[in-house]
Amino acid sequence: MFIEQPPWVYRVIFSGAVWRQPGKEKCVYLTFDDGPVPEVTPWVLDLLDTFHLKATFFCVGDNVRKYPEIYRMIRERGHRVGNHTHNHIQGIRFRSKNYLANVEKAAEWIRSDLFRPPHGHMRYPQLSGLKKKYRIVMWDVVTRDYSPHMTSQGVFNVVKKYTRNGSIIVFHDSLKAVDRMKEALPQSLEWLLKQGYQFKVL
Ligand SMILES: [Zn+2]
Repeated sequence: MFIEQPPWVYRVIFSGAVWRQPGKEKCVYLTFDDGPVPEVTPWVLDLLDTFHLKATFFCVGDNVRKYPEIYRMIRERGHRVGNHTHNHIQGIRFRSKNYLANVEKAAEWIRSDLFRPPHGHMRYPQLSGLKKKYRIVMWDVVTRDYSPHMTSQGVFNVVKKYTRNGSIIVFHDSLKAVDRMKEALPQSLEWLLKQGYQFKVL
Protein backbone atom coordinates (compact mmCIF):
# COMPACT_ATOMS: atom_id res chain seq x y z
CA MET A 1 0.00 0.00 0.00
CA PHE A 2 3.03 2.20 0.08
CA ILE A 3 4.05 4.66 -2.49
CA GLU A 4 7.15 6.75 -2.35
CA GLN A 5 5.36 9.96 -1.52
CA PRO A 6 2.12 9.83 0.52
CA PRO A 7 -0.87 11.50 -1.21
CA TRP A 8 -2.42 14.68 0.19
CA VAL A 9 -5.59 12.90 1.26
CA TYR A 10 -3.56 10.65 3.51
CA ARG A 11 -1.80 13.66 4.95
CA VAL A 12 -5.16 15.26 5.68
CA ILE A 13 -6.49 12.18 7.49
CA PHE A 14 -3.41 12.22 9.69
CA SER A 15 -3.13 15.96 9.79
CA GLY A 16 -2.02 15.92 13.42
CA ALA A 17 1.23 14.30 12.30
CA VAL A 18 4.39 15.79 10.85
CA TRP A 19 4.96 14.84 7.21
CA ARG A 20 7.43 17.40 6.10
CA GLN A 21 8.89 20.48 7.68
CA PRO A 22 7.45 23.55 6.02
CA GLY A 23 9.64 26.37 4.82
CA LYS A 24 11.92 27.32 2.01
CA GLU A 25 15.09 26.16 3.65
CA LYS A 26 17.05 23.64 1.62
CA CYS A 27 17.23 20.92 4.22
CA VAL A 28 16.21 17.32 4.79
CA TYR A 29 15.58 15.14 7.84
CA LEU A 30 17.14 11.72 7.68
CA THR A 31 15.37 8.95 9.59
CA PHE A 32 15.96 5.22 10.08
CA ASP A 33 13.29 2.74 11.15
CA ASP A 34 13.14 -0.73 12.70
CA GLY A 35 16.53 -1.07 14.40
CA PRO A 36 18.67 -1.33 16.30
CA VAL A 37 20.22 -4.55 15.03
CA PRO A 38 23.91 -5.48 15.36
CA GLU A 39 24.31 -6.43 11.69
CA VAL A 40 23.18 -3.07 10.33
CA THR A 41 22.92 -0.19 12.80
CA PRO A 42 26.66 0.16 13.66
CA TRP A 43 27.40 0.27 9.93
CA VAL A 44 24.92 3.13 9.48
CA LEU A 45 26.39 4.98 12.47
CA ASP A 46 29.90 4.71 11.03
CA LEU A 47 28.73 5.97 7.66
CA LEU A 48 26.93 8.94 9.23
CA ASP A 49 30.13 9.75 11.15
CA THR A 50 32.10 9.77 7.92
CA PHE A 51 29.67 12.29 6.49
CA HIS A 52 29.41 14.19 9.82
CA LEU A 53 25.62 13.86 9.75
CA LYS A 54 23.01 13.35 12.42
CA ALA A 55 19.75 11.45 12.01
CA THR A 56 16.73 10.19 13.94
CA PHE A 57 16.34 6.47 14.65
CA PHE A 58 12.81 5.17 15.22
CA CYS A 59 13.59 2.11 17.30
CA VAL A 60 11.59 -1.03 18.00
CA GLY A 61 11.45 -1.42 21.78
CA ASP A 62 12.12 -5.14 21.73
CA ASN A 63 15.27 -4.59 19.66
CA VAL A 64 16.49 -2.05 22.21
CA ARG A 65 15.85 -4.64 24.92
CA LYS A 66 17.91 -7.20 22.98
CA TYR A 67 20.71 -4.83 21.93
CA PRO A 68 20.98 -2.10 24.56
CA GLU A 69 24.64 -1.45 23.69
CA ILE A 70 23.72 -0.54 20.11
CA TYR A 71 20.95 1.71 21.31
CA ARG A 72 23.48 3.39 23.58
CA MET A 73 25.81 3.79 20.60
CA ILE A 74 23.09 5.69 18.70
CA ARG A 75 22.64 8.09 21.62
CA GLU A 76 26.34 8.51 22.30
CA ARG A 77 27.06 9.45 18.71
CA GLY A 78 24.60 12.31 19.03
CA HIS A 79 21.58 11.05 17.10
CA ARG A 80 17.95 11.32 18.09
CA VAL A 81 15.72 8.38 18.84
CA GLY A 82 11.99 7.83 18.51
CA ASN A 83 9.46 5.19 19.55
CA HIS A 84 8.32 2.72 16.85
CA THR A 85 6.25 0.44 19.17
CA HIS A 86 7.64 -2.48 21.16
CA ASN A 87 6.90 -5.24 18.64
CA HIS A 88 6.51 -3.35 15.36
CA ILE A 89 2.76 -3.83 15.40
CA GLN A 90 0.18 -2.42 12.99
CA GLY A 91 -2.46 -0.19 14.53
CA ILE A 92 -5.33 -1.48 12.40
CA ARG A 93 -4.76 -5.03 13.66
CA PHE A 94 -4.91 -4.11 17.34
CA ARG A 95 -7.45 -2.67 19.71
CA SER A 96 -6.44 0.83 20.63
CA LYS A 97 -5.89 -0.03 24.27
CA ASN A 98 -3.43 -2.79 23.37
CA TYR A 99 -1.70 -0.68 20.75
CA LEU A 100 -1.13 2.16 23.22
CA ALA A 101 0.10 -0.35 25.80
CA ASN A 102 2.65 -1.65 23.29
CA VAL A 103 3.90 1.88 22.69
CA GLU A 104 4.20 2.41 26.44
CA LYS A 105 6.15 -0.83 26.76
CA ALA A 106 8.60 0.49 24.18
CA ALA A 107 8.79 3.74 26.15
CA GLU A 108 10.32 1.78 29.04
CA TRP A 109 13.31 1.28 26.73
CA ILE A 110 13.22 4.36 24.53
CA ARG A 111 13.28 7.83 26.01
CA SER A 112 11.66 10.04 23.42
CA ASP A 113 8.69 12.25 22.68
CA LEU A 114 8.75 11.21 19.01
CA PHE A 115 6.58 8.41 17.65
CA ARG A 116 6.29 6.87 14.21
CA PRO A 117 3.66 4.17 13.59
CA PRO A 118 4.93 0.98 11.89
CA HIS A 119 3.62 0.76 8.31
CA GLY A 120 2.53 4.37 8.58
CA HIS A 121 -1.00 3.83 9.73
CA MET A 122 -3.07 3.53 12.85
CA ARG A 123 -6.65 3.96 13.98
CA TYR A 124 -7.90 7.41 14.75
CA PRO A 125 -8.26 6.84 18.54
CA GLN A 126 -4.68 5.58 18.55
CA LEU A 127 -3.50 8.73 16.82
CA SER A 128 -5.41 11.02 19.17
CA GLY A 129 -4.26 9.03 22.20
CA LEU A 130 -0.61 9.22 21.19
CA LYS A 131 -0.78 12.86 20.15
CA LYS A 132 -1.17 13.85 23.78
CA LYS A 133 2.26 12.50 24.62
CA TYR A 134 4.16 12.31 21.37
CA ARG A 135 4.98 14.24 18.29
CA ILE A 136 3.82 11.91 15.50
CA VAL A 137 6.37 11.83 12.72
CA MET A 138 5.44 10.37 9.33
CA TRP A 139 7.52 11.09 6.23
CA ASP A 140 7.70 12.80 2.88
CA VAL A 141 9.88 10.26 1.07
CA VAL A 142 9.92 6.53 1.74
CA THR A 143 12.86 4.96 -0.06
CA ARG A 144 11.35 1.43 -0.10
CA ASP A 145 14.76 0.01 0.68
CA TYR A 146 12.93 -2.84 2.48
CA SER A 147 11.23 -4.05 -0.70
CA PRO A 148 12.60 -7.15 -2.43
CA HIS A 149 11.16 -5.73 -5.64
CA MET A 150 13.53 -2.79 -5.52
CA THR A 151 17.17 -2.51 -6.53
CA SER A 152 19.62 -0.24 -4.77
CA GLN A 153 19.62 1.95 -7.89
CA GLY A 154 15.83 2.12 -7.61
CA VAL A 155 16.11 3.22 -3.99
CA PHE A 156 18.59 5.94 -4.95
CA ASN A 157 16.28 7.05 -7.78
CA VAL A 158 13.42 7.47 -5.30
CA VAL A 159 15.59 9.83 -3.24
CA LYS A 160 16.56 11.84 -6.32
CA LYS A 161 13.04 12.04 -7.67
CA TYR A 162 11.02 12.88 -4.57
CA THR A 163 13.27 14.83 -2.21
CA ARG A 164 12.36 18.50 -1.80
CA ASN A 165 12.93 21.21 0.80
CA GLY A 166 11.98 19.99 4.26
CA SER A 167 11.57 16.34 3.25
CA ILE A 168 11.60 13.72 5.98
CA ILE A 169 13.30 10.73 4.36
CA VAL A 170 13.00 7.13 5.58
CA PHE A 171 15.61 4.42 5.32
CA HIS A 172 15.65 1.21 7.38
CA ASP A 173 18.44 -0.13 9.56
CA SER A 174 17.00 -3.63 9.24
CA LEU A 175 18.09 -6.98 7.82
CA LYS A 176 15.32 -6.76 5.26
CA ALA A 177 16.70 -3.53 3.81
CA VAL A 178 20.42 -3.90 4.36
CA ASP A 179 21.49 -5.10 0.90
CA ARG A 180 19.87 -2.19 -0.94
CA MET A 181 20.42 0.34 1.82
CA LYS A 182 24.17 -0.27 2.00
CA GLU A 183 24.56 0.86 -1.59
CA ALA A 184 21.82 3.43 -1.84
CA LEU A 185 22.48 5.30 1.42
CA PRO A 186 26.04 6.50 0.68
CA GLN A 187 25.01 7.41 -2.89
CA SER A 188 22.00 9.32 -1.60
CA LEU A 189 24.00 11.20 1.04
CA GLU A 190 26.58 12.25 -1.52
CA TRP A 191 23.90 13.35 -3.95
CA LEU A 192 21.93 15.30 -1.32
CA LEU A 193 25.07 17.11 -0.16
CA LYS A 194 25.99 17.92 -3.74
CA GLN A 195 22.51 19.41 -4.27
CA GLY A 196 23.19 21.67 -1.31
CA TYR A 197 20.81 20.10 1.20
CA GLN A 198 21.55 20.61 4.86
CA PHE A 199 20.77 17.76 7.22
CA LYS A 200 18.66 18.56 10.23
CA VAL A 201 17.45 16.49 13.13
CA LEU A 202 13.80 16.38 14.19
ZN1 LIG B 1 8.88 0.03 10.73
